[in-house]
Amino acid sequence: MTITINHFIRGAEAAGNGTDTKAVYNPATGAVTAQLRLANRDDLDATVAIAKKAAESWGDVSLAKRTAILFKFRELVASHVDELAELITSEHGKVLSDAKGELGRGLEVIEFACGIPTLLKGDYSDQASTGIDVFSFREPIGVVAGITPFNFPVMVPLWMAPMAIATGNAFILKPSHRVPSAAMLLAKLWKEAGLPDGVFQVLHGDREVVSGLLTHPDVDGISFVGSTPVAKHILEVATAHGKRVQALGGAKNHAIVLPDADLDNAADHLAAAAFGSAGQRCMAISVAVAVGDAADLLVKKVEERALDVRVKNGTEPDADMGPVISPESREFIVKTITEAERAGAAMVVDGRDLVVPGHEEGFWVGPTVIDHVKTEMTAYQEEIFGPVLVVVRVDTLEDGIKLINANPYGNGTAIFTSSGAAARKFQRSVDVGMIGINVPLPVPVAYYSFGGWKASLFGDKHIYGPEGVSFYTRGKVITSRWPEAHHTSGASYNFPST
Ligand code: NAD
Repeated sequence: MTITINHFIRGAEAAGNGTDTKAVYNPATGAVTAQLRLANRDDLDATVAIAKKAAESWGDVSLAKRTAILFKFRELVASHVDELAELITSEHGKVLSDAKGELGRGLEVIEFACGIPTLLKGDYSDQASTGIDVFSFREPIGVVAGITPFNFPVMVPLWMAPMAIATGNAFILKPSHRVPSAAMLLAKLWKEAGLPDGVFQVLHGDREVVSGLLTHPDVDGISFVGSTPVAKHILEVATAHGKRVQALGGAKNHAIVLPDADLDNAADHLAAAAFGSAGQRCMAISVAVAVGDAADLLVKKVEERALDVRVKNGTEPDADMGPVISPESREFIVKTITEAERAGAAMVVDGRDLVVPGHEEGFWVGPTVIDHVKTEMTAYQEEIFGPVLVVVRVDTLEDGIKLINANPYGNGTAIFTSSGAAARKFQRSVDVGMIGINVPLPVPVAYYSFGGWKASLFGDKHIYGPEGVSFYTRGKVITSRWPEAHHTSGASYNFPST
């Protein structure tokens, strides 16, 4: 029997007035597991009005009280890791250990947000001019909407909500329709932690709801994570409606492997970063740039690892990799592999025909390695978002850097080498926001901020960390004079100077 998934409005589950629904699938079985209610315009207006009211009082709540709630929320998320991971795996398909990994990274952001009293400390300049002190503090922006992708059902909402809420805003989450259940559990945990009703709400919906959030006069900020065309659209529409926006987009992450690298280590990391989560990570390595003599041996070693990946239902304890998210995604991945093969690339490992016994209706693609890929091929140009590693061969480190900088995306990149000089040249030369040195998935820890360059980020603020605090607040600077006794030397009509 399928269940119906509601919204979470004013501290409780709510059916809303919208009558449309969307099916939610288990990608490992292909079965419909739930029907998701989609909000209509009335639901949106009601939710935003509740958020606006909640923001007014929440922004006034003391830092001590906010912090106490954040600590409690952190404990609740930590004690529900198994339950949250099961919800993630059942709707996304990633293996349970990977789902727990994303929860770990989400918890880090909550922990960072627990330090909000320190993060919101302003500056103070005593006696900036004679008898005049200058000081600053930051205030919440009001109502923030978070629009999130399918591939991290908990981590990406937790990149946003703890930071927005700690800084005194009300937050409306519009999760991906493919993975709605974990967001609902997060909402219940916020409530249990003591967060006042209306400060965190979940509204499910499609483009109509997103469009309503982007244009609503009472929404003050938009945090978006998803694909590049949608990120660009979000930035354009929401800024035209006076909102501040951070919109993180897609990626095509390259890893350069130099001949002096430990090739076993590089191959282990490349395989994990290309096939983990079935390649559906914005920081997945999807292009291996093999330099000079490294190529033949590297490809051989990656091939061995790709053939060893255990592709199974993510609930199986020994599964390394689960399915992809949808039949449409599977079709696109298979089509792109076929195009590369027809265009003359060399198939090293071919995952197109993978069948997982007992799960014939699931959305499967096996690990795939394609060598001798050229930059004009779709497999190089498009974000495939599947378990596909393409290998581009170049002669020198400089050629590799040129390749990376010519690519429109700039989310993450990595280099494998034993040369400090090569690594340093790489880190200083690439036009990419997050760089790994012998680290394949350089997702910054929570006290740094996460964000790419070029077509991987629209807007100028990275997400979470110090830039998250800045995004969700705006500053005030106060210049103050407290004369000891009534005293005036008369009006001066010059511009004031110190
Ligand atoms: P997506 O762009 O299809 O959807 C993201 C969100 O936008 C969802 O909530 C969806 O409902 C909404 N949406 C989709 N199309 C829309 C439209 N036309 N108008 C308004 N709203 C729309 O992304 P996805 O397929 O869910 O997620 C995968 C993508 O997200 C990949 O491109 C991946 O690289 C990217 N991603 C990027 C990062 C990052 O940090 N840069 C992190 C995770 C995922």
